[in-house]
Amino acid sequence: MTFRSKAFEIAQGRVSPVLTPPAEKVADLYGSNTFSDDVMRTLLSAEAYTKISNAIRSGSTIDREVADEVSAAMKSWAISKGATHYTHWFQPLTGTTAEKHDSFFDLTIDGKAVEKFKGSALVQQEPDASSFPSGGLRATFEARGYTGWDPSSPAFLMDNGAGGKTLCIPSVFISYTGEALDYKAPLLRSLVMLDKAATAVCQFFNRDVDKVTPTLGIEQEYFLVDKALYYARPDLLMAGRTVFGHSPARGQQLDDHYFGSISPRVNAFMVDFEFEALKLGIPVRTRHNEVAPGQFECAPTFEEINLAIDHNALLMDLMQKVGDKHNFQVLFHEKPFAGINGSGKHNNWSLSTDTGINLLAPTSKPKENLRFLTFLMNVVKAVHDHADLLRASISSAGNEHRLGANEAPPSIVSVFLGKDLTAMLEELVSKGEITLEKGENFYYKLGITRIPHLQRDNTDRNRTSPFCFTGNKFEYRAVGSSQNSASPMIVLNTIVAAQLMEFRKEMDERLAAGEEKKVATVEILKRYFTESKNILFEGNGYSEEWIELAKKRGLSNISATYEALHAYISDKTVHVFERMGILSSRELHARYEIELENYIKKLQIESRVIGDLALNHIVSTVVKYQFKLAQTARSLTDLEMLEEAEPIKEIIKDISSHVVIIKRLVHEMTESRKTANSMEDLLEKAKFYGSEVKGYFENIRYHVDKLELLIDDEDWPLAKYREMLFLE
Ligand code: ADP
Ligand code: MG
Repeated sequence: MTFRSKAFEIAQGRVSPVLTPPAEKVADLYGSNTFSDDVMRTLLSAEAYTKISNAIRSGSTIDREVADEVSAAMKSWAISKGATHYTHWFQPLTGTTAEKHDSFFDLTIDGKAVEKFKGSALVQQEPDASSFPSGGLRATFEARGYTGWDPSSPAFLMDNGAGGKTLCIPSVFISYTGEALDYKAPLLRSLVMLDKAATAVCQFFNRDVDKVTPTLGIEQEYFLVDKALYYARPDLLMAGRTVFGHSPARGQQLDDHYFGSISPRVNAFMVDFEFEALKLGIPVRTRHNEVAPGQFECAPTFEEINLAIDHNALLMDLMQKVGDKHNFQVLFHEKPFAGINGSGKHNNWSLSTDTGINLLAPTSKPKENLRFLTFLMNVVKAVHDHADLLRASISSAGNEHRLGANEAPPSIVSVFLGKDLTAMLEELVSKGEITLEKGENFYYKLGITRIPHLQRDNTDRNRTSPFCFTGNKFEYRAVGSSQNSASPMIVLNTIVAAQLMEFRKEMDERLAAGEEKKVATVEILKRYFTESKNILFEGNGYSEEWIELAKKRGLSNISATYEALHAYISDKTVHVFERMGILSSRELHARYEIELENYIKKLQIESRVIGDLALNHIVSTVVKYQFKLAQTARSLTDLEMLEEAEPIKEIIKDISSHVVIIKRLVHEMTESRKTANSMEDLLEKAKFYGSEVKGYFENIRYHVDKLELLIDDEDWPLAKYREMLFLE
């Protein structure tokens, strides 16, 4: 077929860009395109540098003079490196990044050309960004949205490769009335609260700790397809995933792709984007083939959470741009191909103090391990109490295909601690009331001295758990590959902050009542363990037995996105988010609405693509093919080869039966879409889309995929799985 062979021609003629390895060492390259601490130290006066460093560390406001000095330094640095424009770079609720470039170039009153970038433009801008989703937070009369500089994330130079670089300034995006319209604003709020709560608890163990910050390492999974084949798949182009396609004879059953040798073409792409990432200060470290054919992973070293999230958003953008140069399309969709693994974004999260302690890392000192257990159990308790909200924070049309399918965590939130750690906690509880007696070793009696030994066994890992403890951090593995990590991380920070405050409060009460500190701590932790126990699961999270067991335990297993999202506006969520000052009820409702709308739009697009492809590409091609067959059959009949004509007639009939069903189903699906579109209530509409409209997808696919097997390979109008998944 012309469509595909043209695609192949392009693919064949592709030229892999020749790579020039950096002249410098990679370490020298690192951060060279960022307005880093080193650059600031060199370019700013000692006074301004101290002020900005303090502001970054403590979040204090930056005065006008300092802002002017910083903007002047940024301008000269950026221009010296080839920048012509600047932009506030932010993360609106569309899930992608946004930028609106302004030129440094300006004219003075008397017409002289100058380059300008004032402190006021650095600190705040008012992009005409009224088209971003606000969930009703911005009525048209107050449609103004503001972006505000986040000094804790360094400005960087974005090079589009087409000449002219842009100075990007990481920013928050808020409405005229101060409501958050992005991911960063609530994330930063959650950091303040978590710092406050965790530091207060840390004080029980280490008086010198002044600040606690979450750390995050995001493992990013993705697929690569050849650009030409991508353009030959309208569904990939429009919906980011294939809506049709028969599984290839060889999928991932051989596990031969996982950690396999990386093909030169893919390797060239990886090397290229990694160079660019390193220059932007993104500490990419690990690369490997993933389980599915055509699937890969990239993981940076963990960073302070705000940076890690900015860097992940930036990395995704960068990968796409570099992919273009290599004739690759990067697919971040959670389930671009049916029947094989989907992609996630594993969020490795921990808490770190300004004194360099990882609060979730056990050590060889018993006293420190009581601290470790305290933070560990507070996280478990928080996740237990707000499991539905954590589930909501990763819900999307894309992730709906992934969760629970082909080796992806199920929709049930459970926590894995490891066999030995769980056994130790069980034992602790079974010991009953703890008392302190003279001369005895408290920690020894509790079994806490065994922790470092337990944790050394790194094989005790469970890769089927959505939320697992991996020795010195928790890994939230259910996060979708295309989503902004901020949503689940805002939730995690907030619920852990609230939980730590509860803990501190109870501790204070017990201490006031004269209880001994260690005893009080252990007593509370024991209770937390008992209360949260039903969320702990050590077995195979992908198994049917777990689904049954979870049901018996009363854990929710919400597979539909529209249902899962409801936790965003539950009384419990509103209560904790308002109490912590992260998002108001209005802001939560806005987010909920945006997510529902997003879900509806995605399904609407998919449904349209399915209808269009089925009728205008598949059925039309198939009918032509049938005509060819009919001619053949007639010729055979003319030659009186009746027996030989029979199987051909059978194929014609077979094809017809599928065509008839496809036509009917597409018609019905279109009608149901009309019904859905006329619905006023957003939830009802989402529900209708998610159950009725989506209900047709698999059914139509089944018949189209059957046709794929009946039609001559040459005639099939779409690039096939086998072609897309096995990159040369
Ligand atoms: P895995 O076996 O899951 O691949 P790795 O040790 O490779 O585990 O780590 C995965 C990710 O976890 C990396 O991005 C790493 O930087 C990150 N990580 C390691 N320690 C921490 C920590 N203390 N806080 C947050 N992330 C961490
Ligand atoms: Mg991992």
